[in-house]
Amino acid sequence: MRIVVKVGTSTLTHSTGNLNIRRVETLCKVISDIKNAGNEMLIVTSGATGMGVGKIGLSKRPDDITTKQAAAAIGQCELMYTYDKLFLEYNHCVAQVLVTKADINNDEHRTNLCNTLTRLIELNTIPIINENDSVANEEFYIGENDTLAALVSANINADLVILLSDIDGLFTSDPHKNKDAKLISEVVEITPDIMALAGGSASNFGTGGMATKLNAAKLVMEAGCDMIIANGLHPEILYDIVEGKSIGTRFKARSKKI
Ligand code: GLU
Repeated sequence: MRIVVKVGTSTLTHSTGNLNIRRVETLCKVISDIKNAGNEMLIVTSGATGMGVGKIGLSKRPDDITTKQAAAAIGQCELMYTYDKLFLEYNHCVAQVLVTKADINNDEHRTNLCNTLTRLIELNTIPIINENDSVANEEFYIGENDTLAALVSANINADLVILLSDIDGLFTSDPHKNKDAKLISEVVEITPDIMALAGGSASNFGTGGMATKLNAAKLVMEAGCDMIIANGLHPEILYDIVEGKSIGTRFKARSKKI
């Protein structure tokens, strides 16, 4: 299978903003093992801005765009250094690919991007993708990586996208407020009722943003690919997901790609 794993900042870092070493080590080990079993693995990673903020010792995420972009440049290095080091322990080579909205919207750029990703996979590497936050301006800003993961997956014909977040999946209501909230294990169509469970684009059940995840699911399902939202707390659940066990919420592809 060709699998895209999207890792959110909440999975990579402690609440302090510093790297969650144990979790990231486990994540890299599990992804390496799943790749060793014969799967093609790609990662869409967040965390550049957060790690940059931590590295230069800012007390909070900057509000102004220029400092934010500078922090992302600093953090992106740190992020890739960490992935490179950890994947190397398991003999895997990683490749950094940074994209902006223009690379998706423009036909020529998108073809280049897909060709590069395909060749990286053929070369047996693990492409690690993030938005190019340091140069993206408002006009060309995707802004979050759920959408980026969906766009990349749809364009490279992935079989499965896994969004690792700080929530177990999609619930019937906000599990932080309602103890009777039930996890929805499978969604076959993004109906207005399902969209309403995200609580609008501004509010969500976790820092990940459920509305962007559901929009991502819509895109991915149309492209013939399954998507799963699962909790990144214990990266070992990736084994269960790949084995087809019921973990988190699975959004079923509308029609399987041939
Ligand atoms: N590209 C952003 C970063 O690396 C993260 C976007 C997101 O969290 O979805 O900081």
